[in-house]
Amino acid sequence: MARVAPFDRFSALALTEGERVFVLTGAGISAESGIRTFRDGNGLWEEHRVEDVASPEGWQRDPVLVWRFYAERRAQAATCPPNAAHAALAKAEANLGDRLFLCTQNVDPLHERAGSRRVLHMHGELFRSRCENEDAPDFADEGTYFGAEAIPRCACGGRVRPHIVWFGEMPMGLAAIAEALDRCNVFVTIGSSGVVYPAAGFVRQVRQRGGVRTIYVGPEAPENAGAFDECRLGPASQVVPALFGF
Ligand SMILES: [Zn+2]
Repeated sequence: MARVAPFDRFSALALTEGERVFVLTGAGISAESGIRTFRDGNGLWEEHRVEDVASPEGWQRDPVLVWRFYAERRAQAATCPPNAAHAALAKAEANLGDRLFLCTQNVDPLHERAGSRRVLHMHGELFRSRCENEDAPDFADEGTYFGAEAIPRCACGGRVRPHIVWFGEMPMGLAAIAEALDRCNVFVTIGSSGVVYPAAGFVRQVRQRGGVRTIYVGPEAPENAGAFDECRLGPASQVVPALFGF
């Protein structure tokens, strides 16, 4: 059974030499910075149907709508600063080096803005784009494109699309994630609902291996709370610094 309690009842992680930590972050860590990523109760996302703005079919149907949506997301994210949870993870990386593996479901750049250097964005990145046609490299892009004429074209003639993993597309970095899950001694989920796969299955994967301490961080216990050894309840901006003893 998970031990579920307010975060201040737990002590800081005491890592021994060589121990590795896998951290998965989700929407909850960015919500405290003002980024709205959850669908509301109507199955809508900022008043759009998710399948219209976050699927390959939606893109084929109406790329102008899709770019308007992501232009708004870019504009909103640009005004949101990282919080103390992002800062604590950047500091943990500075201390632990490659013994910390940071994987995020978030597409915002708040981990990088807080100073994290190695972040695996499994669902893509809001401020990167790529060609819709080819397997060409993605690139940094802060543009906000409104209207069909404004959407940039690749040299091959294809339209430039957001570098975002849409519904029905494969998450990024799964091989690196699997390897890091296999090597970690401590597994921490921060602000992820426990219902979005494949990430919701990571904790079960490490538990099957055994000998891994599993910790959940968030304001309330997740749906898969039983899969964790500890649920440290509280806002990530307070729990994460305490978790690392900062
Ligand atoms: Zn192209």
